[in-house]
Amino acid sequence: MWFRLTSIVLSLIVVSIGCSNETSVRERDERVIGDVYSDDLLSDNFFMEDRECQLTGIAQTPTSIVTRSMQFGSLTEIKQVNPGFNVARVLTAPGIAETTYGTRLARTCLDVGNDATCQGKKIIASSSPLSLCRDEASYSRQSVEGIAVTSAAHVVTAYNFYQSIPGSKKDLPLISLNILPIDMDEAVDGEKRAIKTDNLSYFSDFGGKPLIAIYPKSRSAALQGKWNGFYLWEVPWAVIHEFGHHVMSVHQPAPQASSSSLHDPSTLSTIPTSSRRIVRESDVVDAVSEGFADLFAHFATGAKPGQLAGVDCVASKRDPSSKFFANMEAKLLSREVLQQFFLADGTSSGTTDCNQPRYNEPHTMGASIAYSVNALFEAAAIGVSQDEFIRLQFKGEQLLKWANEIGKIRAQGTGTLNFPILITPTIKNIRDGQYLPTETFCQKVGELFSGIKSQLGVEDTCPEFKAQ
Ligand SMILES: [Zn+2]
Repeated sequence: MWFRLTSIVLSLIVVSIGCSNETSVRERDERVIGDVYSDDLLSDNFFMEDRECQLTGIAQTPTSIVTRSMQFGSLTEIKQVNPGFNVARVLTAPGIAETTYGTRLARTCLDVGNDATCQGKKIIASSSPLSLCRDEASYSRQSVEGIAVTSAAHVVTAYNFYQSIPGSKKDLPLISLNILPIDMDEAVDGEKRAIKTDNLSYFSDFGGKPLIAIYPKSRSAALQGKWNGFYLWEVPWAVIHEFGHHVMSVHQPAPQASSSSLHDPSTLSTIPTSSRRIVRESDVVDAVSEGFADLFAHFATGAKPGQLAGVDCVASKRDPSSKFFANMEAKLLSREVLQQFFLADGTSSGTTDCNQPRYNEPHTMGASIAYSVNALFEAAAIGVSQDEFIRLQFKGEQLLKWANEIGKIRAQGTGTLNFPILITPTIKNIRDGQYLPTETFCQKVGELFSGIKSQLGVEDTCPEFKAQ
C-alpha cells in the first residue's frame, strides 16, 4: 500500500551477468533498445530518452536541471542552476549514492493480488547505472532521465533539510534511487499478472543497500482519474516521506519488531471478539513509522498547510497541519480511534475511498499520530522563537530525538511496543524542555492524546491524567 516501508533482502538471489565485455554490452544493449517500459498495465509508455548516452558511457554533469513539482494544487516546472548533481558514470547527488533503472523482478502467485499466495521473487534483469549526458538536463516527463532528475531533486531537498537539523548524522548512509522497477506478479498458469504501480517505497535493505524505488503509474489509476495531470514522484512530499523512513531507520537500527500479538485490555474490553483483528507489535511500529515519515516530509517542505491539495489519497489525510480526515473526523489519538485500530473493519463507514480514514491500516493511524505530535511541537515551538526557520529546526530536532529514543527502547527489547510506550519519549521531551506552561502542556496533551494520556507517565505533571 501507499508509501510503505519495506525491507527486502535479495542477496540470496544470484543473477549472473556474463563478465566479459562483449556479454555485458549486449546485455545493456537489449535493455535500452526498444520501449522497455511499454505495457498494457502502465499509464504511459515510459522510455529512455538518451539511449546512446547509456550505451556510450560518455556522461556529463549538468550545470542546470529541469524538475517538476506538484504542490498546493498546481504542477510547476522549475529550472535549477548548479543542482549539486554529479554524473561520472552514474547520477549521484547529495544523499544519493547511485541512480539506477531497468530492474525487473517477478514472482509467481496462486492468486494474483493475494500476497500470501505469492513466492519465489527473482531478479529477471538487474539494475543498470543511469547516466546523464546533457549540460542542461531538461528531459521529457515520461522519460527515465526526467523521472530520475525530478525524484533526485526531491531527495536532495530531504537530505539538505536533514543535514540542517541539530543532531543529524553527518555520515548518514546514502540511498540508492531506483527508477521504474518493473515488479511483476504472475499467476502460476500465466493467465493473470499484475505490476507494482502507483507507489514509492523505501527498502532499508535491498540487497544490502538502502533504496528508494519509484514505481510507474498504472493505466487503471489514469482511467480512474487518479493523480490527474501529475505523477507521484513529482510530489516533493511523497519522495521526501520515503527519505523520512530512511532517517528513522538510521536513527533506530533496531531488530525487527516482534510479531507477537498485542492486547490492550483497556481498549479491547468493549470490542466483541468476533470483530477484533490480531494486532502485532510490528503493526504499531509501522503506524508510528508512517507518522514519523509524514512529519519529516512536512517539515522538510517548510511545514506549510495545504501543500498536498489535489493529491488523491493523501490531500488532507496525510497533511499533519490538517486536523480532519475527509469525513471530518478529527485526527486525535482518542480512545475511539485506538479502538478502531483493533477492529477487523477499521472504517467508520465501510468506505473504500482512499481519502477516508481506515484506522486499522498504518497510514491512517500514522496520520493521527503525525497531526497530534505536530500540534504539540507547534505549540512548544512558539515558545522557542519568533523565527519560522528556527521553529522548523526545533521541530526537526525533536523528531530526531524521538527517533533516537524509540531506537533505545527497541534495542532494549523489553516491554511491549504499544502506542503509549513509543509516543511517551517525545511528549516527555516537550515537558522536560519546559517549552510550555504546565497548564497548557497538560491541556494540549489531554486533548491530543486522550486515549493514552493515563499511560504516558506524565501524571506527576498532570494529575488529572491519573486513571480513574
Ligand atoms: Zn511510508
